[in-house]
Amino acid sequence: MKKTIAVIAGDGIGPEIVGEAVMVLKQVAEKFGHDFAFDEKLVGGAAYDACGDCLPDATLAACRSADAVLLGAVGGPKWDSLPGPQRPEKRALLTLRKELGLFANLRPAKVWAPLRDASPLKAEIVGEGIDLLVVRELTGGVYFGEHSRAADGLSALDKMPYSAAEVERIARVAFASAAKRRGRVTCVDKANVLETSRLWREVVERLQAESYRSIALDFMYVDNAAMQLVRAPGRFDVILTENMFGDILSDEASQITGSIGMLPSASLRADGFGMYEPIHGSAPDIAGRGIANPLATILSAAMLLRHSFGLVAEADAVESAVGRALADGVRTNDLGGAATCAEMGAAVRSRLG
Ligand code: NAD
Repeated sequence: MKKTIAVIAGDGIGPEIVGEAVMVLKQVAEKFGHDFAFDEKLVGGAAYDACGDCLPDATLAACRSADAVLLGAVGGPKWDSLPGPQRPEKRALLTLRKELGLFANLRPAKVWAPLRDASPLKAEIVGEGIDLLVVRELTGGVYFGEHSRAADGLSALDKMPYSAAEVERIARVAFASAAKRRGRVTCVDKANVLETSRLWREVVERLQAESYRSIALDFMYVDNAAMQLVRAPGRFDVILTENMFGDILSDEASQITGSIGMLPSASLRADGFGMYEPIHGSAPDIAGRGIANPLATILSAAMLLRHSFGLVAEADAVESAVGRALADGVRTNDLGGAATCAEMGAAVRSRLG
C-alpha cells in the first residue's frame, strides 16, 4: 500500500514524540511491505516563529493532499500572549479540524493491564480493567458558535448551535464503534437544562430505533457522567457527547488510566481521512529533556493505520508491541520509570518484530 502521511510535530515535546512514532510507522512499512511517504511541515508556535502564522498555507495544503495527518502538539508560554485568533490552539487546531471537516473525535481510554497500579482509582474500582471510548463531536457546539462581548464589556455571550444532521453523523460513528466493541452507547448531555441536549436525545433515540437496534443505548446527564467515571468507569463502553462535554470528560477519562502520556486520539471525516494526535499538550515543563512518554503518539499512529488505511493487522502489531514493552517493565518518568522517550520508542520497535 502506498500512502502519504502529513507529519506536523508542532511545539514542546511534539518533535520528540512524533519522531518516535514516525520510526514505528517506518518499521511497519518495512515489515508489512508498504510504501509510506512522510511530508513534514511546521505547525503551531514553531510555524509562527518561522513565518508569522501558526497554520501556514503550505501546512494546510499538505494536510489536505495527504492520506492522513500525524500531529504532535502545539502551544506553549512563548505564544500565550498572541491575540486569541492567532494563538496556536485556536489558529492551528481549530482551523485544521474545521478546514479538514474532522467532525468525529475518537478518544479511547483504557487501563493497560501492566499499568493497573498507575491508576489513581482504588484497585476494586479498576477491577478487571477500564476500557472505554469517548466519541466527541468536534466541529460544532459552543466552541464554534458566535462569541460576543457587550460594548460596555460587562456581559458576554457564547452560542451553542447544533443541527439534527450534525448530531446524526456523530451518533452513527458512536453506534458503529459500539458494534465493534461491547455494544453499548451512553449519550451524555444536559437535557434537563439545554435545548441542544433535547435535540441530541431525539435524534440519537430515533437513529437507534431505526438503524442500530442491536446496540444498547442509555442517556446520562454530564454531571452524573463526571461522577460515574470515577465511581464506576467499568460501566461505560462508548460515551457519545457534544464538543465541550467531550473535551472535559475525555480529560477526566485520561486521568483514571494513570497517565495522560498513554492516550491517543483520532479526528475523522466521513470518508475515513483523519488527523491523529496524542490527547496531551506540548508539555513545555519537560520539553527538550528527552523524558516524554511517546506511547500516546505511537498509539495514535496505530489508530491511523486502523482507521484511515484499514491496516488492522499492522495496527494490532503496534498495539501489542506497546503492551509487551509495558509488560516487560519499560516505563517513562510519567509512569514511574526511568526510560527516556527514545528508549521507550526503541522498546516498542524491538517488539514489533
Ligand atoms: P499538557 O498536556 O501539555 O501537560 C500537562 C502535564 O502532563 C504536564 O505536567 C506535562 O509534563 C505532562 N505530560 C503531558 N504529556 C506528557 C507525555 N507525553 N509524557 C510525560 N508527561 C506528559 O497540558 P498543559 O501543560 O496544560 O499545556 C501545555 C501547552 O500545550 C499549552 O500551550 C496548551 O495550550 C497546549 N495544549 C495543546 C494541545 C494540543 O496540541 N492538542 C492540547 C492541550 C494543551
